[in-house]
Amino acid sequence: PYMGPSYDEMVRTRDAHLVPCLKSYYKKPLLMTEGHMQWLFDHTGRRYLDLFGGIVTVSVGHCHPKVTAAATEQMNTLWHTTAIYMHPKIQEYAKRLTDKMPGDLKVVYFVNSGSEANDLAMLLARLYTKQFDIISFRNGYHGMSPYVMGITAHSTWRFDVPVAQGVHHAMNPDPYQGLWGGKHCRDSPVQTTRDCSCAPNECEAADKYYTQLEEVFKYSLPRGKVAGLFAESIQGVGGTVQFPKGFLKKAYELVRINGGLCIADEVQTGFGRTGEHFWGFEGHGVRPDIVTMAKGIGNGFPLAAVVTTPAVAESLGQALHFNTFGGNPVACAVGMAVLDVIQEERLQQNSQVVGTYFLQELARLRDQFPCVGDVRGKGLMIGVEMVNDPVTKAPMNNKHFIDLWEDCKNMGVLLGRGALNGNVLRIKPPMCITKEDVDFGVAVLRKALQTHTEKTKRQPGSS
Ligand code: PMP
Repeated sequence: PYMGPSYDEMVRTRDAHLVPCLKSYYKKPLLMTEGHMQWLFDHTGRRYLDLFGGIVTVSVGHCHPKVTAAATEQMNTLWHTTAIYMHPKIQEYAKRLTDKMPGDLKVVYFVNSGSEANDLAMLLARLYTKQFDIISFRNGYHGMSPYVMGITAHSTWRFDVPVAQGVHHAMNPDPYQGLWGGKHCRDSPVQTTRDCSCAPNECEAADKYYTQLEEVFKYSLPRGKVAGLFAESIQGVGGTVQFPKGFLKKAYELVRINGGLCIADEVQTGFGRTGEHFWGFEGHGVRPDIVTMAKGIGNGFPLAAVVTTPAVAESLGQALHFNTFGGNPVACAVGMAVLDVIQEERLQQNSQVVGTYFLQELARLRDQFPCVGDVRGKGLMIGVEMVNDPVTKAPMNNKHFIDLWEDCKNMGVLLGRGALNGNVLRIKPPMCITKEDVDFGVAVLRKALQTHTEKTKRQPGSS
């Protein structure tokens, strides 16, 4: 049992000594003290099904014994930097990680966080192309360092300081909230309920959003030249938004014709999470020039990476570039153990089977409750968009969203939150969850939706 300082003391210390932007989830933030696989335990010993840990970091399960053992063994042997001495583990891990990549994506630079990885990717694109301008999509999230704050395109993550020099945000190809898209647009077991005239394999919406990207080249870029395009394979913080089928492939072609590099941000979508493939970009049929990864790569350990081709990596040789902890022996030991566990426990397959089941069960809730506007995603990367009414798609009233979310927590299920208006439930559990866990999670959400429906029936017009 937890024997540390009291809950109230922890809150007081937090308020006095931690920065105010650390906004814990829930009205009465949870004080978590233990984790095991898909379960979290608070200071009172209460157990929660963690349907969000996967997005934050935990890919194979909280405190997975094999990952913990690998870290412990390495900690008992050597912790140091690999930036000035060699260590067998960084070589071995670099080989194992890049073996998972297609084509000549065979060179890796290890760093410690997703922001650092995207920072470096931006630098690489600029050095390699000798161009400065970068394109990203509205609603995308790529990190918070000064460089990448600018490619993150959410006003909620903006401060009144100059960022985003040379960055252009293209219209977001969102088949649910966007201007175009409907029934056949997404690469997902569930589609939006909006009718569309596209044939199953020819998405008109993809073409229409593509013309919007062309406009960025026409109007905003110096002589149409670009250093690179950043795209998440499925937008995470933005609320699990999936681009229409075929869009990204066309976007990559446009960028390349104009001399730019294509950067896949796999910070949330990599390592088997989308089920069908190991990397999210594979689902789009594209091959990036640079791939960035973090979070799930280390199952909660600070580890991130940039993978690119030898030709692009060459441009970093022009000057010194150093990262003290990137690829340190402990991080590499953890990274390799994560790859082992994904393979041994068939977690990518589990993501696909359990994720598809989850999506189908959630789609049943959508058909039953009008406030569930959209269910989307792939594998265990799932979003549930809550709306005022399914026709206007206006976001669910914030108070009601919070009540529903808290209700789930009180019944033992933790869900994430995302999108500009904060009205999307994000479901990204550790990849070890089972169908029984899904049944429990869906039952809890159904109960919370019933309570919400009763409440709003009594207060009409306020959903
Ligand atoms: N890219 C994506 C897609 C992310 O979701 C995040 C974090 N939410 C980042 C980059 C930044 O990662 P970090 O917080 O480790 O800097």
